[in-house]
Amino acid sequence: MRVWMLQKNGTLEEQDRPEKVTEALQIKARVSKVLLTESDKSLMLGRDRSAIFPIIPGRAAVGVVSESCDCGIDLPKGSRVYLHPIFSCGVCENCKKGDSYHCTDVKITGYNAHGFLREFAVVNINDVTPLPSSVSDETALYVEWIAIAESVLDTLECSKGEHIVILGAGLLGNLLAQLLIYRRIVPILIDSNEELLNYAKRCGIYYTFKTDETLYDNVSRVTGGRLAEASVHITDSGIDPSLLFSLTAPRANVVYAGFGQKDLTVNLHAAMQKSCTIHCVTGSKKHIPSAINLLANKAITIPDFRFTYGTPETFLSYVHETADSPVDFRNPYIVKLL
Ligand SMILES: [Zn+2]
Repeated sequence: MRVWMLQKNGTLEEQDRPEKVTEALQIKARVSKVLLTESDKSLMLGRDRSAIFPIIPGRAAVGVVSESCDCGIDLPKGSRVYLHPIFSCGVCENCKKGDSYHCTDVKITGYNAHGFLREFAVVNINDVTPLPSSVSDETALYVEWIAIAESVLDTLECSKGEHIVILGAGLLGNLLAQLLIYRRIVPILIDSNEELLNYAKRCGIYYTFKTDETLYDNVSRVTGGRLAEASVHITDSGIDPSLLFSLTAPRANVVYAGFGQKDLTVNLHAAMQKSCTIHCVTGSKKHIPSAINLLANKAITIPDFRFTYGTPETFLSYVHETADSPVDFRNPYIVKLL
């Protein structure tokens, strides 16, 4: 079965590799679509210094069950599934005790475990989630971002009508703002990029501000002078991570959210003065089912995305052609394997 293995020298080699079900709880899935993510891009461009080669890239993927297991879980052959990008190791002390949620060696596809740029993947049945027919393959590829947004929402502990500052109007910031609106919380979305703010407005996000000299006054005006009840910094936004303390009320929850692969230096001086509580949120499998539910309920949308479809053979050249710019989430690139 074909896999596309990234070598240390940056080449992507097609290889034939057996994918056999060997354990009782495993299933086999035919991978149908893989989305190019920022983490795949930095891996394939050799920018990820902690990557271990050779490795199969492909963090975000959907597939179809081709071989189910006889374990009592109803997931028949032919079911469309979201393939989890994060899973527990199965061998650490916590995993052995059955507490995989507190796994001490979490695996991330295309980072410290093989990703999904392959025809078939053998995975634990608990590491896939079935997709309802109302959620398309393309939409399901965004489940990880929505799951992080759900996790942020849990951490913020905010109530209806409260104002939450979000620094970063990229994909995660945009989806988080939509989720807050769905829960009747008021997002204030901030970025230096006017195009991203305009896109956010088209997604129904009302309060959008630029990171300029009017920012404090704008946030103060919207919140009636109280400032935000909690705030979130999207870690890949490129915005000063210390900026959010000046926009947040004293004793508030402050969250740093993202994929955890960027260096981040925060000046805690203002946080100390305001006695803020700081949290870090990255991906976890806990919120995947609720993320899929939100997509099924159309609580979150991804309007006007212009998908480009490629093949494993064109994947690497596309990454190199676009090496100088970050992944544009409004123009996604999808490798079609099925
Ligand atoms: Zn473990």
